[in-house]
Amino acid sequence: MDFSYTAQEEQFRMELRSWLEANLPEGWLEGTFNMPEDQAQHGQFLRDWQKKLSDGRWAAIAWPEKHGGRNATLMEEIIYHQEMVRVKAPPLVNYVGLHMVGPTLMQIGTPEQQEKYIPKILSGEEVWCQGYSEPNAGSDLAAVQTTAVKDGDKWIINGQKIWTSFAHFGDRCFLVARTSKGEKKHHGITCFLLDMKQPGVEVRPIIQMDGEHDFNEVYLNDAVAYDSEIIGNVDDGWRVTIALLMHERTGIGAQVFSLEQQFSELVGLAQELQEDGISLIQKLDVRKRLLDLYIKSRGSLLNYYRNLTKQLKVGHPGVEGSMDKLFVSEVTKELFSEAISIQGQQGILWKDDAVYGKSYWQKNYLYSFGQTIGGGTSEIQKNTIAERILGLPKDVGR
Ligand SMILES: Cc1cc2nc3c(=O)[nH]c(=O)nc-3n(C[C@H](O)[C@H](O)[C@H](O)COP(=O)(O)OP(=O)(O)OC[C@H]3O[C@@H](n4cnc5c(N)ncnc54)[C@H](O)[C@@H]3O)c2cc1C
Repeated sequence: MDFSYTAQEEQFRMELRSWLEANLPEGWLEGTFNMPEDQAQHGQFLRDWQKKLSDGRWAAIAWPEKHGGRNATLMEEIIYHQEMVRVKAPPLVNYVGLHMVGPTLMQIGTPEQQEKYIPKILSGEEVWCQGYSEPNAGSDLAAVQTTAVKDGDKWIINGQKIWTSFAHFGDRCFLVARTSKGEKKHHGITCFLLDMKQPGVEVRPIIQMDGEHDFNEVYLNDAVAYDSEIIGNVDDGWRVTIALLMHERTGIGAQVFSLEQQFSELVGLAQELQEDGISLIQKLDVRKRLLDLYIKSRGSLLNYYRNLTKQLKVGHPGVEGSMDKLFVSEVTKELFSEAISIQGQQGILWKDDAVYGKSYWQKNYLYSFGQTIGGGTSEIQKNTIAERILGLPKDVGR
């Protein structure tokens, strides 16, 4: 494919660039803006930012126009990611809604569900979380033990979820529960669009090793969902569960754009650091490792382009998202490990960095381990690639 940009695409870039300059919080581009530390204010700041994006039709550009998107082309999507990464735009509080639940609703949800949920996903009015993992069901997701029992037009839900990102901001949860015991464990599963703001839902924080609070435990004690809050069919939720996972993996794959930027920052760091009066970038061993990382990150990017092209043709993501997810998370981990390593003893210090921000390398290094786990571990992606792309025999463990 041809990666040069047409005049129209360059115009699209300029339109987005000027919108960002006009709408990013004051001081953001200059690096003087400080994120609110208070959790409620932090959440509100992120919701306001998503509302702004949505009002400007910049929250979900690949979505159809009727749902508030722009029907963006592949090249426009690429430009969008490049520009967002370039300004290090604030994160999307409703990432799960925009990249996972919304696309799944468009693929599988009823027209009523689409009408009810999609506009609020886009505006950030309703923030979603993903209730898949449990203490005894992670890679083996079909082992979920949370139960939903029918009671008239209601379902009574009991169980525990874990590692639920954004549940502390969550208004709704895309919840996987067991509704019957089938012959196979993939049968008898149902997906619910659960209201989180009810007495039967309790959210408890989990603090990560970098001190941040991104995910939680969620306890369901007689929580209630209605028939209208089921997506897909009762007991046949496995295909819905997988459809959302495919969107999740493709979304994670889009981190290749951050990877590109992080690679140039690493080169900057190697230029800045010195050993025996010589800049590290001059050292052969460092240059070799940087070259290796460049090849891997560039390979991940081109692979992502190829898969995105296919996705835009077919209309929904395929199993190739596993390749994107595997590459981007593993190369990111390697990149930050290298960044810590070339800092020598300084690498272990939690410190402010005038150029790259507060403990930038240290925080990202610690976070990068989780990236190889969330959305399915690297081992699981390798199994999927082996079985479903390469056609190798099934994993005997399952
Ligand atoms: C940053 C982050 C965010 C997350 N956000 C969410 C969220 O919002 N919602 C949610 O539901 N979950 C979330 N998770 C949970 C995540 O999906 C699970 O941690 C993941 O699926 C692995 O499950 P587990 O932790 O139970 O590990 P296990 O499944 O117990 O795996 C343990 C180890 O065994 C390996 N293993 C397991 N099975 C196989 C196999 N068949 N072949 C080879 N190796 C295998 C795994 O690769 C891993 O190394 C998040 C996790 C992280 C790190």
